[in-house]
Amino acid sequence: SKTADRDNSGKYLFGESDFKNSGLAQTDWAAKKQVWIPSEKEGFEVVSIKEETGDDVLVELDNGSQKTIRKDEIQKVNPPKFSKVEDMAALTFLNEASVLHNLKERYFSGLIYTYSGLFCVVVNPYKMLPIYSEKIIEMYKGKKRHEVPPHIYSITDNAYRNMMQEHDDQSILCTGESGAGKTENTKKVIQYLAVVASSHKSKKDAVSGELEKQLLQANPILEAFGNAKTIKNDNSSRFGKFIRLNFDITGYLVGATIDTYLLEKSRCVRQAKVERSFHIFYYVVAGAKDKMREELLLEGFNSYSFLSAGHVQVPGTEDDEMFTETLGAMEVLGFIEDERIGMLKVVSTVLQLGNIEFKKDKNQEQATIPDNTAAQKVCHLQGINVTDFTRAILTPRIKVGREVVQKAQTKEQADFAIEALAKTMYDRLFRWILTRVNKVLDKSKRQSVSFIGILDIAGFEIFEDNSFEQLCINYTNEKLQQLFNHTMFVLEQEEYKREGIEWNFIDFGLDLQPCIDLIERQNNPPGILSLLDEQCWFPKATDVSFVDKLLNTHSSHCKFTKPKQHKEKTMFSVLHYAGKVDYNATGWLTKNMDPLNDNVTALLSNSSSAFIQDLWKDTDHVVGLEQMTKMSESSVASSSKSKKGMFRTVGQLYKESLGKLMTTLHHTTPNFVRCIIPNHEKRAGKMEAHLVLEQLRCNGVLEGIRICRQGFPNRVVFQEFRQRYEILAAGAIPKGFMDGKQASTVMIKHLDLDPNLYRIGQSKIFFRTGVLAQLEEERDLK
Ligand code: ATP
Ligand code: MG
Repeated sequence: SKTADRDNSGKYLFGESDFKNSGLAQTDWAAKKQVWIPSEKEGFEVVSIKEETGDDVLVELDNGSQKTIRKDEIQKVNPPKFSKVEDMAALTFLNEASVLHNLKERYFSGLIYTYSGLFCVVVNPYKMLPIYSEKIIEMYKGKKRHEVPPHIYSITDNAYRNMMQEHDDQSILCTGESGAGKTENTKKVIQYLAVVASSHKSKKDAVSGELEKQLLQANPILEAFGNAKTIKNDNSSRFGKFIRLNFDITGYLVGATIDTYLLEKSRCVRQAKVERSFHIFYYVVAGAKDKMREELLLEGFNSYSFLSAGHVQVPGTEDDEMFTETLGAMEVLGFIEDERIGMLKVVSTVLQLGNIEFKKDKNQEQATIPDNTAAQKVCHLQGINVTDFTRAILTPRIKVGREVVQKAQTKEQADFAIEALAKTMYDRLFRWILTRVNKVLDKSKRQSVSFIGILDIAGFEIFEDNSFEQLCINYTNEKLQQLFNHTMFVLEQEEYKREGIEWNFIDFGLDLQPCIDLIERQNNPPGILSLLDEQCWFPKATDVSFVDKLLNTHSSHCKFTKPKQHKEKTMFSVLHYAGKVDYNATGWLTKNMDPLNDNVTALLSNSSSAFIQDLWKDTDHVVGLEQMTKMSESSVASSSKSKKGMFRTVGQLYKESLGKLMTTLHHTTPNFVRCIIPNHEKRAGKMEAHLVLEQLRCNGVLEGIRICRQGFPNRVVFQEFRQRYEILAAGAIPKGFMDGKQASTVMIKHLDLDPNLYRIGQSKIFFRTGVLAQLEEERDLK
């Protein structure tokens, strides 16, 4: 039984009053013949059936009015016994309406965590709840999932125990849309493990080990450089991450590594209205004082054109205080002064790059720099020569055939080069930080025997305008959904086998393969990413010719279509598992190649600053200017062939890192956490039904339920079955002892159920959906 002293936190874990079994609610339900019908506002509303005729039903609404509705539009209401159930797989009527209703009822009682079979669903409360204290951590330690209320701690603890007992690596996968709470829950997982698996126990301070402290402080650094305020989330992660916590044989935390995916680097040159660039830019401009300010050549917010709207503030945080905090975190991680200054100089340089202004010369052809103050500052910060730098930008040396010539750049080319440089510079800094953090955290590879990996990555994105980034994230989610479906398939098979029940499940994971192939296939026929690569090396190719090629290759593919009313020739659609997504391929060739002025990178890798040198030490993969020229003029790129060997496109690199991640995940026992955003106003206590339903569809919760329904989703252990339903089989069971299985079998026989509606296992009875409702109804009539 669940025991915890019910202080304030109890309400948010157990719920308030419990009238699940109140006789009144129960008879009410049975007498009224209640069902759900679709409702524009609420998603679904409950009505009672008045009359049934053929395919139609006459129903009475709450306000007393009546209407006729098609039978297939109604969904059954669960008996009150199932009110606010902790695991929705237990619902006897497994339908969308009931799932939404259950989440809603729990949410409004302050219960944000709910299970749905393999999923842990969490609704963002948008307020601090007293459910993450050390006392609560203590309460979850070593408890099985069904012994405590649903919580991310329970998922984490079970993963931890499982790892210890079975020596099985574990993963916890958090997905959801922006603002849904992925990062917050990820932090809770780490917080929990830092306490539970700390090898440095002390009474006063639960987290006292150096490693644990460093692990917790790594996050503020990553967030400072990788998070930004967006319309949807004041602290939005603009990258995906996979944190691996390594444990030794005794279960102590011995190290960690962090992998990241696709930093949204374009944000550092341009931001949408009311959005911000990465936090660090504001932290440093607001927070750096005196000597440091001078050293970094910092200016005011309004003098940077790369901060589109100047000093946009984040409600509830002070950028200068955050700067101090970030520096503090760096110190905990052992970043020395030179490193800290080196990093911040890069941040300042990125800002300063935006202030280099090009003009057209008299002939309107060549770019010039009338005022090179900004360029001078950039070069000072980067430790390179300003004449070399401006020459590299304005008249770079380019290979044409076997010759090398100096080629004057247009203003557009120069602008492009500067933006590309700023973005890559920032991206490289981010990766440098990561490597540096990993060096600190990944202390003891040798002792490590198993790990728990935590994935914090965006869910399906279906926007008005979908580009290359959306394709990558949706591709990722197809793969993760496939992993889920497959895991569920395997586990269900195992459970049925264990209980000696014959049933063949369909592996719905296979259903996702065609779409995955469409995106990632190498050849026969080449998928979207391969075709994009191919076009990138094809001299006269454009975004339009890429889409043409796609249409020619995949016109008959079951997951590929051309948008109906397409005006632009750069549009194509993919039928993702979560829905149809229209992609606009404008700019994809450039995005995939990510070309960079290699004259400048050569300068940087020879900088007088060791830090900058280090940042640019491997530039083999840089696609140089020839390609860039090709992009803007579509002239033949002669040396592209020789570069092809070393160069990797963005798509290829992403596919590869996703492949690695999936291989890792496939070797773990995955735990799926689905974060739900209840409204788009960041408001507590408000849930928009349709918004939630859409997320449940996209994130696989409804799919999981569909799969469940194929089999016998409701499982009741013998003892419980006997306790609750013996009343229906009065007299069938003789007085005295009878073992659970035998008693249940006798009862079931007596109930005269259709044999296809149940299976008797080794420890429990399995039911089809709806059977328990029938039993509940009969029980009521007794
Ligand atoms: P993104 O994809 O943009 O990074 P995300 O899913 O990581 O979004 P979070 O940053 O975790 O979203 O959450 C957004 C905000 O919602 C948090 O800053 C916090 O204010 C609130 N929030 C999320 N989860 C919780 C929670 N469990 N308790 C209290 N507040 C929460
Ligand atoms: Mg996040």
